[in-house]
Amino acid sequence: MGYRAYQYRLYPNKRQTQDLLNLLAVGRHYYNMCLDLWRYVYLTEKRRPTSQEFEVMRKGYKKTIPAARGVHSHVFQGLAKRAEEAFQGFFRRVKAGEAPGYPRYKSLDRFHAIEFKQFGNGVAIDGRRVRISGVGRVRVRWHRPMQGTAKTAEIVHKAGQWFVVFTCEVPDQPELPKTGQVVGLDLGVAALFTTSDGDKVDHPKFYQQSQKRLRVLNRALARKKKGGKNRRKAKQRLQRHHHHIQNQRLDYAHKLSYALVQHYDLIALEELKVKNMVRNKHLSKSILDAGWSIFTKLLTNKAVEAGRQVLFVNPAYTSKTCSNCGALFEDLTLADRWVECRCGLSLDRDHNAARNILKQALRLWDAEVRRNVAGSPDASVPRKPLALPMGSVTAGCHVWN
Ligand SMILES: [Zn+2]
Repeated sequence: MGYRAYQYRLYPNKRQTQDLLNLLAVGRHYYNMCLDLWRYVYLTEKRRPTSQEFEVMRKGYKKTIPAARGVHSHVFQGLAKRAEEAFQGFFRRVKAGEAPGYPRYKSLDRFHAIEFKQFGNGVAIDGRRVRISGVGRVRVRWHRPMQGTAKTAEIVHKAGQWFVVFTCEVPDQPELPKTGQVVGLDLGVAALFTTSDGDKVDHPKFYQQSQKRLRVLNRALARKKKGGKNRRKAKQRLQRHHHHIQNQRLDYAHKLSYALVQHYDLIALEELKVKNMVRNKHLSKSILDAGWSIFTKLLTNKAVEAGRQVLFVNPAYTSKTCSNCGALFEDLTLADRWVECRCGLSLDRDHNAARNILKQALRLWDAEVRRNVAGSPDASVPRKPLALPMGSVTAGCHVWN
C-alpha cells in the first residue's frame, strides 16, 4: 500500500471564512500552549508530558476559552502530537551535535494548517461539499478524482486561499515493463541536467520569469509602511507568487520525473548536498536547490512505485575524470565547458560527467544485468532517445567509446 495526497481548493462563504480563521487562531494558541507545557515539564522534571497531562489541559482549555468550545477533539490531539514532534526533532538534532533552533511559538504568519487524523471524523465529504466540524458544508472544486481510501484530512490556509488535503491509501501499482534503457544525469546550473546520452534539458522558462516578478514584489513590499493595510496586501501578493512558483515547480517536476521513469530502468544521479555549486547570475541558488530536491524526491517515489532503480553516486571527480579511459583532468576549471583527453575523447563537460555518473552506478550492478541494458559498455540492447513531453531538449552527440 502506498499513500497519495489530493489537494482541493475550498470556497468558504463569509461566515465560514470567519469560522475557519477562528479554527486556525484556536489551533495556533493551543499549539503554543502545548510548547509551554513541554517546556515546563521538561525544565522542572526532565521528562516528557504524559497524555493525561495533555488531556487535563485540553479539558480546561475548552472550558475557559469560548472560541475553543466547538472545536473537534482530534484537532487538539493533532496539535499535541505536532508539539511532541517539534521537541523530539529538537532533541534528536541536539544529540546529533547540530545547532538546532528551539521549538518556537508560531506567529499568525507561520501557522497555516489544521490536521484531522481520521477522515470522516471532523472532516467528511457531504454531497458535492466538504463538511468541516464547527464550520459547516464548504464549497469545493473537485478538479480531479480522488483515488484509493481517504485516511486523514488537513485544512490549509495559503496566501489568503483555503484548501483541503486528503491523504489516501492507494493499492500498489503493477511494475512497469523493463525497457533496457539506463541513464546518468548531471544536474547543473547552465542546463537543468545533461544526460549520459548527451541530451540537455533546459531550465524551464518560468524560473527566470518568476525571479523577475519576485524582485518586483519584494521591492514593492519594502516600500510600504509597517503595520499598514497596503503592506498586508503587498505581502499577500508576494505570498501568492511564492505559492504560484511552488505549483509550477511541482508540476514541472512531476512531468519530468514521470517521463524519465517511463523511459529508463536505471537513473543515476549525484548526491546533491556535497555538490560544489556555482552561483548563476540569473538564477538564484535557492530556486534551483528547491527545484532539485523536489525533482529527486518525486523521481525516487515514482521509481519505487514502478519498480525502477534510482541510484545516487558520489559526486567526487565526476567532472574531472575521462569517461572513456579514466584519466584525470588535473587542471580542469569551472570555466572549461569542454573536455579533451589523450585517448581521443572530446566531449561537453557535463555530458562527460553524466557518463561518469552512469558508469559508477553500473559498477554497482552485476555483469548479468549490464548485458541487458543499453548504455552499458557490454550491452546488447540498442539505445532509444528520450522524448520529453514539454520539449526543451537539445540533442547532443551520442558516443560511447
Ligand atoms: Zn581518456
